[in-house]
Amino acid sequence: MTNRSYIDSYYRDTLVSDISLYQMDVAAGGAPDVDVCIVGGGLAGLTAARELLAAGKSICLLEAERIGWGASGRNGGFVSDGYAEGTLALEAKLGFDHAKALFDLSCEGTRYVRDTITELGAPGVPVQEGWLRVLRHDGEEALKRSVARLVEAYDAPYSFWSKEKVRDVLLSDRYFQGMDDPGAFHIHPLNYAIALAADIAARGGMIAEGCAATSLTKEGAGWSVGTSLGQDVSAGQVLLCGSAYMSHLYPKLEQAVLPVATYVVTSERMPEKIASAIRYRGCIGDTRRAGDYYRLVDDGERLLWGGRITTRTSEPTALAHMLKRDILSIYPQLGDFKIERAWAGLMGYCVHKMPIMREMEPGLWAATATGGHGLNTTATLGLVAAEGMAGLGDRYKLFEPFEARWGGGALGRLGTQLAYWGMQAQDWWDEVRS
Ligand SMILES: Cc1cc2nc3c(=O)[nH]c(=O)nc-3n(C[C@H](O)[C@H](O)[C@H](O)COP(=O)(O)OP(=O)(O)OC[C@H]3O[C@@H](n4cnc5c(N)ncnc54)[C@H](O)[C@@H]3O)c2cc1C
Repeated sequence: MTNRSYIDSYYRDTLVSDISLYQMDVAAGGAPDVDVCIVGGGLAGLTAARELLAAGKSICLLEAERIGWGASGRNGGFVSDGYAEGTLALEAKLGFDHAKALFDLSCEGTRYVRDTITELGAPGVPVQEGWLRVLRHDGEEALKRSVARLVEAYDAPYSFWSKEKVRDVLLSDRYFQGMDDPGAFHIHPLNYAIALAADIAARGGMIAEGCAATSLTKEGAGWSVGTSLGQDVSAGQVLLCGSAYMSHLYPKLEQAVLPVATYVVTSERMPEKIASAIRYRGCIGDTRRAGDYYRLVDDGERLLWGGRITTRTSEPTALAHMLKRDILSIYPQLGDFKIERAWAGLMGYCVHKMPIMREMEPGLWAATATGGHGLNTTATLGLVAAEGMAGLGDRYKLFEPFEARWGGGALGRLGTQLAYWGMQAQDWWDEVRS
């Protein structure tokens, strides 16, 4: 059993089981020989593993830490259609038909998560419907236009909410109009990852926790993957799903993925205070370029709040205090309350804000960089990666325009940080004008 553990978070506190079940039996000797070796046990790797097994392939999934230890087990838990890049921005770049095909694929990812939770009877993964995205400035006409376009052209189930309707459920004078998405929902992402892993193991998939892939070597028609346990894995194909946490394995991909940090806190139980401020049970977020995202957990008694992005990968010491200040700037009526957990996570972003989903070289694939919109996108990538690798389809080619472009290393981080400050300034300007 690996002695690696999850970071302190609300999700760890509410795990269905914290026992590490998956290890490589090094003593058994002989390198595992499988059709596909998957690097990374986040939701991308797990979904691909599950779908490859369904397509009749043998798999070995390597996870350096624990299943769902990365972004997949630390996030806001919002599952919704689309990508980190906006649908209408994609339309402007690629044209309507391509953008619509990508959007439909993203909806399949959302459905996949919902259906899989039901199919597996995933324990500890309550599903709560709805996502209300609100403006922090008065922008009725523009928002109405976007909603109408997405409803008409993309069959999106969104509806426009007036300022009054928004403020009926979110009691804050910082909010204006909103867009409601009844097809979105929120989940406990770490328990979902654990349910996927249990299903993979039950279907005969091999999973090794506490086992990092350390090298990739071409071996005949396939690949040999070196591991931190000293045991190599032989595989016909390899799928890289290490996102922002992968380093020193395949530089061409790692240089294209910028690690961007974002933060989450959970409050103490405070049902009366919350009732004075938040009366919407689905996902809530503002539409700023780097906005707040939050939801109620534990039957509406606790607030789970995420926000801010930065390119610094270490956790700020005043993290809890910083986010509490953000919360009170929206809901001063919450008064003093205790933050019980505060944590950080890294998202993998590419400069084009779209995932990297491609065969990098023969037999070596990548399905990664889902940014801050990964809960449906990892499912989408898992599906199309498995189809492509099993030779059952080529929908992964829809992602062809989004190359693994160099993110600029330290320079890229500086650029991202500058862009973020620019976005913050623009958001602030929009707000002060309303
Ligand atoms: C705080 C936070 C909030 C977010 N909120 C949301 C949200 O509400 N909705 C949404 O849609 N998205 C959200 N996201 C984004 C989403 O969580 C990610 O896009 C998604 O989980 C990425 O999944 P992944 O499997 O690609 O990567 P990860 O979950 O990061 O998994 C990568 C895994 O690979 C492992 N690994 C790396 N290198 C190696 C190696 N060499 N060998 C073996 N294993 C390796 C790591 O240990 C890690 O477990 C959020 C992200 C963060 C950080």
